[in-house]
Amino acid sequence: MKPSYLIKPALDERYPEIDYGKGVFLFDKEGKKYLDAASGAVTANIGHGVPEIILAMHEQSKRVSFVYRSQFTSEAAEKLAEKLADALPGDLNWSFFVNSGSEATETALKIAIQYWQEKGIKSKTKILSRWISYHGITLGALSMSGHPGRRARFVPLLEEFPSISPPYCYRCPYQSTAPECGFLCAMELDGAIKRIGSDHIAGFIAEPVIGAAGGAITPPEGYYETIKKICDENNILFIADEVMTGFGRTGPMLASENWNIIPDIVALGKGMGAGYAPIAATVVSDHVMEPILHGSKSIMSGHTLSANPQSCAAALAVLEYLENNDILSDVESKSVYLKNKLDQLKKQFEFIGDVRGKGLLLGLEFVRMPGAKIPFERSMKLTELVVKAGRDQGILLYPAGAGLDGMSGDAVIISPPLTITKREIDELINLLKATFIEVYRILGFPYEN
Ligand code: PMP
Repeated sequence: MKPSYLIKPALDERYPEIDYGKGVFLFDKEGKKYLDAASGAVTANIGHGVPEIILAMHEQSKRVSFVYRSQFTSEAAEKLAEKLADALPGDLNWSFFVNSGSEATETALKIAIQYWQEKGIKSKTKILSRWISYHGITLGALSMSGHPGRRARFVPLLEEFPSISPPYCYRCPYQSTAPECGFLCAMELDGAIKRIGSDHIAGFIAEPVIGAAGGAITPPEGYYETIKKICDENNILFIADEVMTGFGRTGPMLASENWNIIPDIVALGKGMGAGYAPIAATVVSDHVMEPILHGSKSIMSGHTLSANPQSCAAALAVLEYLENNDILSDVESKSVYLKNKLDQLKKQFEFIGDVRGKGLLLGLEFVRMPGAKIPFERSMKLTELVVKAGRDQGILLYPAGAGLDGMSGDAVIISPPLTITKREIDELINLLKATFIEVYRILGFPYEN
């Protein structure tokens, strides 16, 4: 075999080489077919090879692929910002385009701090966040991430921003149930603010549905109302990290809309370019922009490829595709269909402890003993085992939870393109069943059909 100098995620592993993608399927160079039940990394939201997006990118590249943001604006960037302002709730009207989710959350952090500075309050420089969270890999974003596995190597360089428990009802730290619990995990935010002092806190960031770190951990009704109220009462901006949940992944454009919450700042990514181009955004509400517009009149952030016309044309085409084909209105019914089938699988495979999630961002948590919710020993690397068995069977799953950070249980995310058909969902379930039969065989667990 030829040596490879490409630094891949696991340097001792062999990765199949991709040939092409079509709809919810990917085909490697050896002709193997995969059902992309993860949309890559919850990214290929409208599936692979959509001609409208490819054409829009081609048309843009024929005119110009790149201009520098301090020299030119472009029709694609202007239209995208305008369309986003229309599509997002409340006064979330101002878009700053970047290239990755990490850049979007890191920019959100900086804008939150700048907002208070422009108002003459210089001491508000901390961003609080939750444990079992992932906000990105750059140092500011990692500082906000409650993900021990990804923090470990860089701890001396990081701020201790994660401060409170997540709304992880399956493993409630208070051994309680919502709403009787009084949302004690949300009330921890109030405690943290009192401890640190709201004079020092610029904002609080959360993923509406927890993705990579937890496996589609979904809060109970009432949780975000409590969080938003605490933020508002303490003069703390609420930043929604919708990098994974935005662009209709859970049904509405923003997952925050499921709970009638309008964040002050939103980070978008992944599904925004749907994998066709690297693009992400920090979207800022009018009231947060106001002191900046009247103050220094510039955001202290930016990248060479910010608002790249080619990427903006791709994201604009994705947004138009979602609208023209009314994709989001079907997400809920597909979610119910898929979730019911996952619930049926849970009855057949006892190691599925929890089926959860919102829209087409669903998660399965695996347990060694279902009644007692006892997790697998980490040394068993159950998440990795399931993902690998899935790949062998021809289905791509997204690893989450303990497989990566040792805080939550072993979990996978099931997040097919929003364009998946019900027949393809049936196929997904068949492949998942074959995967679990194989995992049971490897583990030596009995399985009776
Ligand atoms: N925030 C969330 C919620 C994410 O899921 C991710 C990526 N998994 C990021 C931020 C970072 O995005 P990126 O990998 O594009 O930098």
